[in-house]
Amino acid sequence: MIVIGAGAGGLVTSYIAATVRAKVTLIEAGEMGGDCLNYGCVPSKALIKSAKVAEQMRHAERYGLENTPPEFSFKNVMTRIHKVIADIAPNDSVERYTDLGVEVLKGYAKFIDPWTVEIALNDGGTQTLTARSIVIATGARPFIPDLPGLEETGYVTSDTIWNKFAELEAPKKLVVLGGGPIGSELAQAFARLGSDVTQIERGARLMKKEDVEVSEFAQKVLVESGVNVLTSHQAIRCEARDGKKFIIVEAQDDSTVKQDHQNKQEIAIEYDELLCAVGRRARLEGYGLEDLGIETERTIDTDDYLETLYPNIYAAGDVVGPYQFTHVASHQAWYAAVNGLFGHLKKFKVDYRVIPWTTFIDPEVARVGLNEQEAIEKASTLKLPATTLKI
Ligand SMILES: Cc1cc2nc3c(=O)[nH]c(=O)nc-3n(C[C@H](O)[C@H](O)[C@H](O)COP(=O)(O)OP(=O)(O)OC[C@H]3O[C@@H](n4cnc5c(N)ncnc54)[C@H](O)[C@@H]3O)c2cc1C
Repeated sequence: MIVIGAGAGGLVTSYIAATVRAKVTLIEAGEMGGDCLNYGCVPSKALIKSAKVAEQMRHAERYGLENTPPEFSFKNVMTRIHKVIADIAPNDSVERYTDLGVEVLKGYAKFIDPWTVEIALNDGGTQTLTARSIVIATGARPFIPDLPGLEETGYVTSDTIWNKFAELEAPKKLVVLGGGPIGSELAQAFARLGSDVTQIERGARLMKKEDVEVSEFAQKVLVESGVNVLTSHQAIRCEARDGKKFIIVEAQDDSTVKQDHQNKQEIAIEYDELLCAVGRRARLEGYGLEDLGIETERTIDTDDYLETLYPNIYAAGDVVGPYQFTHVASHQAWYAAVNGLFGHLKKFKVDYRVIPWTTFIDPEVARVGLNEQEAIEKASTLKLPATTLKI
């Protein structure tokens, strides 16, 4: 088996393959551990922890202690984040996976045909491998909107923020573009660590996959943490003038500030740094999917067995969706590994009935399976009688 990508999806796939004594090669172009370890869950949760402690110090009276304004250097917070990554890294390392029986190659993989992968090795040269089955676990990357002036004025994403800020103080004025879980978690954390944060969301509410009450709750706690939340605001352009950077937004019709601003009135928000967190797109280009004719409209098209157009090529993790979580990537990896290795005997349909997830704003928002809005939507597609929709 060949596994492309050593994030959660690829690591778990190759772990399972090695456990059942299959001959498995794992190929990673960048950092072992993928997004979760290096740019995602681990650094963001480490930042959130520091921000939470700072907040608890400020409000220590809630716990019978004295309120104490936290004194800290943001650089030390960032140093700790990199230490947390380094502490966990051995779990996902080349050494560990080699010991488990996985051949690990550092390089960029590209399909030559449905059974052959060519690897441009990071330290030079190429290697060509063939396999009975191949698992694509190439993940996703931050989506960058086509916003006039954004490239010129500069921005950070969850990929770049951890290194960019490693040697800096927290930005004084931070704009977070995007009201999803990543934007909301980071907006609150930076606000608690002293940044003046404005969060801009085009839709009417934050975290739109959650029920309305949950979105309202999230907005309330973010505002309490000092985040200036602008829902129903469309970003129009970024511009630099007089040595300052601005994002220009327009209030949408259903905006809460409708009374204060005429519809479509432009508002300029000054910032030092802009964090672009408007979603993550599957990595689909550059490694030969198009040449094989594998459908890639937004994600890799797979069937219930995570099988692509080719019965020997499977896909798992963010590159497939529909959920972009580490534990879902691992969950899918089991199906990709088992179906890829033993599918000729028995195949298993991937089961998404009970997917848990948490958004690590504080307090955290957690759920398992369908929420109310999804249950209602699902019931309406099943054409169930209205009475069954009552919860
Ligand atoms: C800020 C942030 C916070 C997050 N917080 C959480 C959280 O709290 N909980 C949670 O469950 N999830 C969280 N996530 C999501 C989680 O990180 C992803 O769902 C998970 O990393 C997906 O794993 P993956 O294996 O599909 O892809 P990735 O981890 O992206 O791994 C894919 C790997 O493939 C490699 N690759 C790509 N193309 C090639 C190629 N052609 N050849 C060789 N290698 C290639 C890439 O370099 C990459 O390392 C967060 C994400 C972000 C950005």
